Amino acid sequence: MNPSSDPTQGLRDALRVSPENVPLRRHLAETLMGLGRAPEAEAEYREALKRSPEDTALKLGLASAFDRQGKSSAALVIVEDLVKRRDTPASAFLLHARLLLKGGDAERAVRAYKSALDADPDSADPELASRLGIGAGPDSAVSEGRLRAGGGDREERPESPDVERPKIAFADVGGMDALKEEIRLKIIHPLANPEIYRAYGKPLGGGILMYGPPGCGKTHLARATAGEVRAGFLSIGIHDVLDMWIGSSERNLHGIFDNARSHKPCVLFFDEVDALGASRTDMRQAGGRHIINQFLSELDGATSSNDGVLVLAATNAPWHLDSAFRRPGRFDRILFVPPPDAPARASILGILCAGKPQGTLDFEAIAARTDGFSGADLKSVVDVAIERKLSEAMKKGALQPLATRDLIDAAKSVKPSTKEWFATARNYALYSNAGGIYDDILKYLKM
Ligand code: ATP
Repeated sequence: MNPSSDPTQGLRDALRVSPENVPLRRHLAETLMGLGRAPEAEAEYREALKRSPEDTALKLGLASAFDRQGKSSAALVIVEDLVKRRDTPASAFLLHARLLLKGGDAERAVRAYKSALDADPDSADPELASRLGIGAGPDSAVSEGRLRAGGGDREERPESPDVERPKIAFADVGGMDALKEEIRLKIIHPLANPEIYRAYGKPLGGGILMYGPPGCGKTHLARATAGEVRAGFLSIGIHDVLDMWIGSSERNLHGIFDNARSHKPCVLFFDEVDALGASRTDMRQAGGRHIINQFLSELDGATSSNDGVLVLAATNAPWHLDSAFRRPGRFDRILFVPPPDAPARASILGILCAGKPQGTLDFEAIAARTDGFSGADLKSVVDVAIERKLSEAMKKGALQPLATRDLIDAAKSVKPSTKEWFATARNYALYSNAGGIYDDILKYLKM
């Protein structure tokens, strides 16, 4: 091409003077794309990405340049990464949809298209929508959840995680007696005797939210609750839900609740629930607000009855939870799960050492030396002690029983992990304790 007739020459000259100018290079790349010169655009995007490797617009540009040259799988690798990010632009979802459709995955392509509309309702692409066999706009079947992928009649259903049958029950949970009682009263008895509760005008439903420092047995107790009533156990990490691209998260939530309902009786456990319930005003993305509203309406049983589904949730950061979660019928019981006290530590140690070669163990003595240890910390203590005994046994060629001294020594190498949490919790309990919800923390801290 004659340089004087090349419309990009001015930009190239400017870049020669300031080669580090990323926006300028991006502008050149976009101009090249507009001129249909994808290989040159690819080179410029690559060059710009060396200087700004995490730039979403540059990555998307590079993916488009690949796509234009028929390098679909290279494009897909980039886009798959982009759609997992927060603040993904609608254009990334659209490209994702196009690439998926090209690869024959119509079902995911439809979901990607819907995500584009969720991110920006104005991003509708009628041509792509018609190739996907759906209406184009946000008011079409897409947003009503009646998608038909690839022309089939099947309703889109999210993948559902497997329902576990826990082998542990309350007897395997050390201490936590008050919590076990609360769970019995609030959710186990109503499940077994719904008519008695109804006769006394006690509403069924609602969940229990547990909060406290990490490793103190919230998940363990939830799993044991399922084992106690021989119910199924469905554990959901909220980040799993959020990490799926925002647009389809709502339907994933619906699928999760539906799955629990179809396996009742079932304990549905949400871990890290604060990530989902982050104060709605914090959620800049409209998609985020939708998820919260969807979660609340699933909890309320607005779409289907939650009879037989016991909802438990856990968080280390209850202060990040939207107050709408605490309304009656939702998580109206908020329980503090403190670090185990001395008798609870002795009992947890007993449970953790059960079945291991041991002499007479003085669990009270070990408990007295592990103040501030969480259940998880105690597990580390037992693991360290067992590891040492194992290598001794290998050397001596015979089983070496665990002794009190071994556990006390092992405890010296494990740091109690709950102190840091209380440093933060104390501030919330002192300065943000509306309705006294954190009184238990103050009581624990003897303040
Ligand atoms: P996180 O907030 O980090 O999710 P968590 O409070 O849910 O922590 P768990 O995962 O339930 O804590 O506890 C970690 C491990 O510690 C458990 O798998 C279990 O082995 C042990 N553990 C904790 N508490 C108890 C307990 N009360 N009885 C027996 N084992 C316990």
